[in-house]
Amino acid sequence: MRLSRYLLPILREAPREAEIASHRLMLRAGMIRQQAAGSYSWLPLGLRVLRKIEAVIREEQNRAGAVEILMPTIQSADLWRESGRYDAYGKEMLRIKDRHERDMLYGPTNEEMVTDIFRAYVKSYRDLPLNLYHIQWKFRDEVRPRFGVMRSREFLMKDAYSFDIDKEAARHSYNRMFVAYLRTFARLGLKSIPMRAESGPIGGDMSHEFIVLAPTGESEVFCHRDYLGFDTPAADTDFDSADGLQAIVDRWTSLYAATSEMHDEAAYGAVAEAERVSARGIEVGHIFYFGTKYSAPMGASVTGPDGKEHEVHMGSYGIGPSRLAAALIEANHDEAGIVWPDAVAPFDVALLNLRVGDAATDAACADLEAGLRAAGRDVLYDDRDERPGAKFATADLIGVPWQLIVGPKSLADGKVELKRRATGERVLVTPADALHRITG
Ligand code: ATP
Ligand code: MG
Repeated sequence: MRLSRYLLPILREAPREAEIASHRLMLRAGMIRQQAAGSYSWLPLGLRVLRKIEAVIREEQNRAGAVEILMPTIQSADLWRESGRYDAYGKEMLRIKDRHERDMLYGPTNEEMVTDIFRAYVKSYRDLPLNLYHIQWKFRDEVRPRFGVMRSREFLMKDAYSFDIDKEAARHSYNRMFVAYLRTFARLGLKSIPMRAESGPIGGDMSHEFIVLAPTGESEVFCHRDYLGFDTPAADTDFDSADGLQAIVDRWTSLYAATSEMHDEAAYGAVAEAERVSARGIEVGHIFYFGTKYSAPMGASVTGPDGKEHEVHMGSYGIGPSRLAAALIEANHDEAGIVWPDAVAPFDVALLNLRVGDAATDAACADLEAGLRAAGRDVLYDDRDERPGAKFATADLIGVPWQLIVGPKSLADGKVELKRRATGERVLVTPADALHRITG
C-alpha cells in the first residue's frame, strides 16, 4: 500500500477529549473517527487491526467447534417479548419503530434471535451439542460512553451461543469456550485471567469474565499472582475430551480471582500477602451458562434419547473485538506511539523512502516492496514527499513491527536500515539481508 494513496489522517496534537493512552493514540494514528457520542468510524488503519483481531477470534472459535453465522443488527421486539426481556431491558436498549409502527430494536445481544433459529431447525438430541456464533455490531445506549472504543455505544462483539441436552453437556460446551478464550487472548499477546463473575438468577460457578490487567481498566480486580505465569492451553488441545478440558478449567480456577462485584475479603485474605495482586483490569470477554432461561419461555426443546422433550441448556460467550483493539494499545505503547504485536499489526513492514524522486532510492524501494509482497508481507510504503523526520515519527506512531529505511547515503554503500519498533534496535544491512531478516 502506498501511503500517498492511502487515508492516514495523523494528528500531531493529542486530542483533548481523550483521557487514556489507547484513545489518544487511536485518534492520533488515524485509526478511528468519532461520529457521535460513543460511535466511531473505523478508518483504514484501524479497520486492518480490527480485522486481524477478528481473524484470531474466528480461528479459535472454529477450533473449539463453534459454527459461524451472521444475524441482523435490527431485531423485532416480538422475539424479546417472548423472553420477557423487551420490558426488562433498561434504557441501554435502543428502541426503534419502522414505517408500519412495528417495534424494533438495535440488538444489544442475540440470545432471543439465536434461540429462534435453533427452535426452527433443531429437534433431536442427536444434533447436539451445537454452538452458533457471529461477529456483529451491537448497540447499547451506555450511560457513560468513554475511552473511545473501549466503552462505546456501537461496538463489535463476537457472541457465541451453545445448546445442550442437559447441564452436564452444557458444562463441556462452557469449558470449550473457556479454553478457546484463554487461547484467543494469549495469541493476541494478552495475559487474560478468568475471574468469577456474577452469574445472575441461575447461580452456580459457571460465569467468568476474562480480565486483562491494565492501570486504566474500569474494573477493580483481585487475584493470585501465579495466574500471571500460567501456560496457555496448546493448539492441539482435544476439545472433544470433556475430562481434558475440565482439568484445564479446574487449574485455571483453582486460585483466587474475582472482580470487585464478586470479591470475598476473607478468601482473598487467605492468600499469602506476597501472592496477592490487587489491580485494575479491562473486561475483554465474558462467558455465561444460563440453563433454560430462554429455551423454556421460547419453547426451544429437543427429543432426548428417552423419547421425551427436553428444554435445551444454553450458554452465551462474548468477546469485544473493538474493545480489544484499545486494550491491545493500552498494553503495547511507548512515548512515541503504538507498538503492535505481530499478530494484530495493521502492516508487517513500514517501508520509508527518504528521498522520493531519486532514481536509485525509488528503485530500491520498489524492489523491496515487491520482495516483501511476494513473501506474503503487508507493506505500507511511505512514498510521500516529506521530511525524513516526519516519516520516522509517523512510522513510530502507527507502530508497525518493522521499519525498513531506504536513503541515498546508505544505499550508495549498498545498505538499508532495518529497525524493530518494539526494541528500537537498528541495523545497517544489505536489502537482501533485510528481506531475509523480516521474512526468515
Ligand atoms: P461491561 O461490564 O464492560 O459493561 P458487559 O458485561 O455489559 O460489559 P457483555 O454483555 O458481557 O458486556 O459483553 C461481552 C463483551 O463485549 C465484553 O466482555 C466486552 O469485551 C464487550 N463490550 C461490552 N460492552 C461494550 C462496550 N460498551 N464497548 C465496547 N465493548 C463492549
Ligand atoms: Mg460482562
